[in-house]
Amino acid sequence: MKTAPKEFIVNGRRYQWMDRPLIVVCVDGCEPDYVNQAMQARQTPYLQSLVETGTSMLVDAAMPSFTNPNNLSIVTGVSPALHGICGNYFYDCETKKEVMMDDPKYLRVKTVLAKFADAGAKVAVVTAKDKLCRLLGHGMRGICLSAEKADKVTLSANGIENVLQLVDMPLPSVYSAELSEFVMTTGTKLIDTVHPDLMYLSTSDYIQHKYAPGSLQANAFYAMIDRYLAKLDALGVTVAVTGDHGMNPKTDAIGRPNVVYLQDRLDRWFGSGKTHVILPITDPYVLHHGALGSFATVYLEAELGSVTERIKTIPGIELVLSRREACRRFELPSDRIGDLVVVAERLWVIGTSAARHDLSQLDRPLRSHGGLSEQQVPLLINRETRGISIERRYRNYDILDLSLNHVS
Ligand SMILES: [Zn+2]
Repeated sequence: MKTAPKEFIVNGRRYQWMDRPLIVVCVDGCEPDYVNQAMQARQTPYLQSLVETGTSMLVDAAMPSFTNPNNLSIVTGVSPALHGICGNYFYDCETKKEVMMDDPKYLRVKTVLAKFADAGAKVAVVTAKDKLCRLLGHGMRGICLSAEKADKVTLSANGIENVLQLVDMPLPSVYSAELSEFVMTTGTKLIDTVHPDLMYLSTSDYIQHKYAPGSLQANAFYAMIDRYLAKLDALGVTVAVTGDHGMNPKTDAIGRPNVVYLQDRLDRWFGSGKTHVILPITDPYVLHHGALGSFATVYLEAELGSVTERIKTIPGIELVLSRREACRRFELPSDRIGDLVVVAERLWVIGTSAARHDLSQLDRPLRSHGGLSEQQVPLLINRETRGISIERRYRNYDILDLSLNHVS
């Protein structure tokens, strides 16, 4: 810290050195109404206090409004066009294989976290799921662990050991609200014991996928987050909170899923093997939430003149863009996006073929994300900010800029 520069440039953006420890919290699936409803129910007094004494904004997530692209945007400060992670996987046209994008080799830039660590800051990252941990901690000296594998941490691999002892909580199930609580309590303990200068905490959207804003379960979840944020604040740090994407019901009025099975439609219209629909939300090994989101990309194996116009006629489809249009509008890497990008309306999701989605696993009405309708998320900082322009739209990945360069 003694020889730390006052400011430096990462991925073309300037960052000032922190004047006090900075904790950035990414609340997964943080549709703004979750916070609003929890506040109305008086469950989040700390977040409420930030409205008066700190900074409270509504910002846009990166598209597609999925977890990995946005977490990577937040820690690199740039769009997926630059960092390269635009989903869980992409389609390799040469090998005709779907390639997982969870390997750090697909990350094209350094993270701001890694650069701060290089410059001498003590940096820590705690994520809910392990998959994200590898990407976020890539090339970074410091502490990096996931709640999911907190029992397996080692000093050499994670920069810390005996986390279960430190946290004093049993290892949570990957499908639980406790997974996120584990992230928050680990963060609080690390501030107390390790004293990081910069820490990034990323929760899981298990609750948001299941429960609507204002429900008892959702309010209890946000009350839990609120308690930990208040604890962090009391430790004298800058607390900055945002979301990776929102969350909406994807059902009709009686709770049935609204799904466009795009591969089935295209096969019917053009014959099988002519198009290849990729759903970047999908994890090919575990079918979470029916693997349904509101964003798809389509690879065309042949010239199909009317394909865009025909997809636009499908009820539930909001937008069909060419690769060039989509990459310009959504700032996506053109070599990892199909010929077309298809976005569903707020209450709709896109699937491949009906046979490839097991909806019997859904125990509650489907809620998901990925579209433009899940792009808006809150951004809150426990300090006032200056020099904010009302002319431009801020992004969730401006959070490091706002909380390092603009706090007063
Ligand atoms: Zn997410």
